[in-house]
Amino acid sequence: MKIGFIGLGIMGSRMAANLQKGGHTLVIFNRTREKAESLLAKGARWADSPVALASQVEVVFTMLAHPAAVEEAALGQDGFLSRLAPGRIWIDCSTVNPAFSRKMAAEAEAHDIRFLGAPVSGSKGIAAAAKLTFLVGGEAGDLAASRPLLECMGNKIIHCGGPGTGAALKIVMNQLLGTVMAAFAEGLVLGESLGLSREVLFDTLLGGPAAAPFLSVKRERIEKGDFKDADFPLQWLQKDLQLATVSAYETGVPMPVTNVAKELYRFAIREGHGKEDFSAIYDYLAHSSAVISLREDGELQPV
Ligand code: NAP
Repeated sequence: MKIGFIGLGIMGSRMAANLQKGGHTLVIFNRTREKAESLLAKGARWADSPVALASQVEVVFTMLAHPAAVEEAALGQDGFLSRLAPGRIWIDCSTVNPAFSRKMAAEAEAHDIRFLGAPVSGSKGIAAAAKLTFLVGGEAGDLAASRPLLECMGNKIIHCGGPGTGAALKIVMNQLLGTVMAAFAEGLVLGESLGLSREVLFDTLLGGPAAAPFLSVKRERIEKGDFKDADFPLQWLQKDLQLATVSAYETGVPMPVTNVAKELYRFAIREGHGKEDFSAIYDYLAHSSAVISLREDGELQPV
């Protein structure tokens, strides 16, 4: 099948590579062209813009950072939606908020395009291994038609319901991911300040009843202090917490814990951690200049 793929970052580049391995022909676009090189070397064709890609393909995937980037790719001056032939499918795998996904579904319908919101669970390594979980919102028939493509990139597909429901589940997942990571980092910093070794803390907490399984994967990064080459950039997790709070505002749900965590990640971004792995929230809490200066000034006294 001829597939258009827009967004070749950490996730998109690996997902597109798996479609290529599945024998599909790719036409690709990314804001930064260098990231397309390895796909181009394996036979993908470059398009100079989303609209240039549209007339050449049967299906379009988008895997972009945030709603604004998706909207620009679909509906902007060089957007693909106006040029895609009627009846084609657009599958948006980006993490966006449910209301935005429903809006894109409506825009697609107005152009006679079938739309699936299909954000993914799983990070860099899982994407490379084609073991992603797709959280799909949209028509069952459109999912059935797209299933063979999703199966090139993942091994689990959850049909959540109509438009926006895949985004809803993804937002709940990342609300949990962000708050749990921040709470764990805070606990580590507290334990260390009380004289416990990091080794004792990790050995005891990980695998225990209160720690989420994903935290084991973050141990090595925290021990080595190595947050570069992100699996999941901290700035996009903060974006997802923002999307969770926006969604909660729309439904009238209070989100006190999530709002605090969201602002914590914002502080971390302002101290330069945005492109690092989101586990760098530990580094921020342990070493933020604001916290260190309070300690050094002797302003932190035992109570
Ligand atoms: P990434 O490596 O930063 O890639 C982001 C992609 O969006 C790149 O293609 C980037 O283009 C493009 N982009 C960013 N801002 C743009 C703009 N203003 N206009 C046009 N294009 C823009 O991040 P990623 O981890 O692949 O994340 C992609 C999506 O997947 C996000 O929605 C994220 O929340 C979601 N997600 C990530 C993970 C993960 O573990 N990494 C897991 C599940 C879901 P450039 O290359 O030019 O920057």
